Amino acid sequence: MSNFEPVVGLEIHAQISTQSKMFCSCSNDSFDAPANTNVCPVCMGFPGMLPVINKETFAKGIKAALALNCAIPSFSKFDRKNYFYPDLPKGFQISQYDQPVAQNGYLEIQLSGKAHIIDQNNPVQYSHYFKKIRINRLHLEDDAGKLIHGSDSTLCDYNRSGCPLMEIVSEPDIRSVEEASAYAQEVRRILRYTGSSQCDMEKGMMRFDLNVSLRQKGEEKFGTKAEVKNLNSFRALERALAYEIERQTNLLEAGEKVAQETRGWDDATGETFSQRSKEGAHDYRYFPEPDLPPLLVEDKAVSKMKSELGELPLQKRLRFIEQFGLCEKDSGILTEEPEMARYFETVVDTSGDAKMAVSFVNTILLKHLNEDGKGLAECKITPEQLGKLIKMIRDGVISNNMAKNEIFAAMYETGKDPEKVVEEKGLKLVSDTGALETLCKNVLEENPGPVADYKGGKQAAFGFLVGAAMKASKGQGNPKLVNEILKKLLG
Ligand code: ADP
Ligand code: ZN
Ligand code: MG
Repeated sequence: MSNFEPVVGLEIHAQISTQSKMFCSCSNDSFDAPANTNVCPVCMGFPGMLPVINKETFAKGIKAALALNCAIPSFSKFDRKNYFYPDLPKGFQISQYDQPVAQNGYLEIQLSGKAHIIDQNNPVQYSHYFKKIRINRLHLEDDAGKLIHGSDSTLCDYNRSGCPLMEIVSEPDIRSVEEASAYAQEVRRILRYTGSSQCDMEKGMMRFDLNVSLRQKGEEKFGTKAEVKNLNSFRALERALAYEIERQTNLLEAGEKVAQETRGWDDATGETFSQRSKEGAHDYRYFPEPDLPPLLVEDKAVSKMKSELGELPLQKRLRFIEQFGLCEKDSGILTEEPEMARYFETVVDTSGDAKMAVSFVNTILLKHLNEDGKGLAECKITPEQLGKLIKMIRDGVISNNMAKNEIFAAMYETGKDPEKVVEEKGLKLVSDTGALETLCKNVLEENPGPVADYKGGKQAAFGFLVGAAMKASKGQGNPKLVNEILKKLLG
């Protein structure tokens, strides 16, 4: 065990979910558009063009900040961050420097395995604990274009230029790979729950900058940090952090120093590499953006937005465990996406059976969707229909086995109501006691051996007789009734 402790802070960039870009009316979604077709003089930074703030970016930024427990100052403003780079046609980024839209928040993350919180009044036992990660600030800024590096040239695509971003900066409160990952994933859930960002990682809608330093355990003072820029998946974040911890440990143990620098991440080799030294930090010559007015927010409006936030993912995860008796894993899966949580709750409401709802949604439905590479939005079965299917099992109309296989498959294929599928396929359970009694009598007559065994005290023989009766009914006898009738007939 090394004697060093990692100190980590994350800067997260997320693309705000809006129709248009931040300061012009170009589309905010040009993922599939040909290069340089989603641009205008404003986002291309032509001289004399004036930016006009897209109000939605502001509203969604505040919403996210409130969910991250930030304070919203009544006054904030934009600043120019000057630097020259080919992906930045204006020569400066419009960002926020000393007066961002939100400050001083925190996020509670859930970590596993180290503590048990057992509440005497509450039988649920958690095999996890919580940790608060403080958030320094959330600010708004516009995105740069994209550079595509070839072997002897670089291509510029400005479609992304001017897209709205929020940057969420944590305090250096993170101490491990597990914590960094839990924090980043919880931020993503919150942004998706609040509708502030879709955070589609594959489309680069969420990117991480990782700040890492080491210090001797027990030491208060922080060591020199290195910053790893532009990680675009949770896996890259975890791998890059593990790599940096090891790299810096080796340096310090060899008596060398960690350089203050910006590093890149090579996903293929699994290594970080030096990009530029940050000695004597960049001078961005920040100054207030003269073309945009300051942003003023009324406390009343903020309170209203706060009251409209709705249930956040962590709360929902814990509520599902308590209310529906789910295990942590199931609860996590069902609350990862707000749509999934809503779907599940409707299934429970319609069926009145949470246990069966979990089994149908988490095991059967998700398995089908995953196999087909589909999302919930493309699922043909409505939650009401799935709820009705479960209710039909509970009411003894159909067997569990048929529901899970044949009927479910038909519903998944066609989107038909369960009643309709059952009717069309003639799968209704036989609950006609007269017919079942005749059938059971026949079964007893045909099986004198097992009947004698049962009467002689062999319980297992009863199971055999039930099986035989179910088989005789082609699986459609109501199993509860078959049981009762056989018991009665056998005395
Ligand atoms: P910079 O001026 O280099 O951008 P900031 O103070 O703005 O540094 O912090 C950027 C990020 O780095 C924040 O997320 C912060 O929590 C984190 N950070 C600051 N100091 C350290 C440190 N010594 N080790 C690890 N992370 C740090
Ligand atoms: Zn534009
Ligand atoms: Mg910084």
